[in-house]
Amino acid sequence: MPKKDYYEILGVPRNATTEEIKKAYRKLAMEYHPDRNPGNKEAEEKFKEITEAYQILSDPEKRKRYDMYGHSGISESDYIHFTDVHDIFEVFRDIFDSFGGGFFDDFFGTRTQTRKVQKGIPGSDRKLRLKLTLEEIATGVRKKLKIKHFKVCDACGGTGAKSRGGYTVCPVCNGTGEVKQVRRGFFGQMVTITTCANCGGEGKVIKEPCNVCGGEGRVYGESMVEVDIPAGVKEGNYLTIRGYGDAGIRGGPSGDLIVVIEEEPHPLFVRKGNDIYYTLLISFPEAVLGSEVEVPYINGSTIKLKIEPGTSSGKEIKLKGKGLPSVDKNSRGDFIVKVDIWVPDKVTEAEKELLQKLLKEGKNIKPNADKKRN
Ligand SMILES: [Zn+2]
Ligand SMILES: [Zn+2]
Repeated sequence: MPKKDYYEILGVPRNATTEEIKKAYRKLAMEYHPDRNPGNKEAEEKFKEITEAYQILSDPEKRKRYDMYGHSGISESDYIHFTDVHDIFEVFRDIFDSFGGGFFDDFFGTRTQTRKVQKGIPGSDRKLRLKLTLEEIATGVRKKLKIKHFKVCDACGGTGAKSRGGYTVCPVCNGTGEVKQVRRGFFGQMVTITTCANCGGEGKVIKEPCNVCGGEGRVYGESMVEVDIPAGVKEGNYLTIRGYGDAGIRGGPSGDLIVVIEEEPHPLFVRKGNDIYYTLLISFPEAVLGSEVEVPYINGSTIKLKIEPGTSSGKEIKLKGKGLPSVDKNSRGDFIVKVDIWVPDKVTEAEKELLQKLLKEGKNIKPNADKKRN
């Protein structure tokens, strides 16, 4: 099928100015606008056709080649093929924007998800250290945290603009969010593409900034957030609470809140992994004769414990599964009571007498190297 003449496609004379070509294209693009012709394949084809013609005729060099040689002067690489008609709007944003009358907003308002340019600038993560007692770690705990961070500005809904739709296409990058720089170097031309500094890659700038947030779309303030800390967490473990970091700039996604667990040292218990150690002091007679004692436990209650007669200092009494649970709840550590014999540094006269009598008359009182201890 022979290709149609580009001037005919756009309905302009061969001596049309670039401005006239642009105008003709706008008019036709409005007519064959894919949203105005949903599901109409013919309109879509027409839309691609006029866009191809526009790409050639709006470029003086390509137009000159076309004028001299017709379609044979044009190669496939002279225009961009679009598989999705919506992509066309991405590439020719500047033209569509100049249509004015809300055309651009109407169109892009419903098409923002197809834009490759990011919306706003993402917010940062925030870190918060949370001190927990061993008792809290043993059972798990719900904590209310007060956090200081950037929040979405209520006045503008995070857009940063004073009024709805108060945006205009960035004049520096024409809405692409990128700036192309061509440099001539030793090895030839180098093209570098950088994020547009004027709009931060958003492709749009605010016409009139919100007077509450000054155009950032976020304000510094406090929030409360509730966190469920599972039992068994360790020092250095962290929980990520999605979206509770800093709000993004101008509607960008929020960062996360990272809660880092810190363990408060306990006055009675020492944690080793999920095992809990407690040192129990008993008297020498209790160690020899045996005893019943009460030891404090990690949940605040006490445990009754039997001390066997002849218990030496350093003996470990292991209460299996009475330690901390693992975070996945699949296992539990032990509660280990380490016995230590209390040696008083002051005794009464009466006690002294008893002890001297014991030392003089007792047969098994002195250490015996041959005897194995438990
Ligand atoms: Zn820009
Ligand atoms: Zn605001």
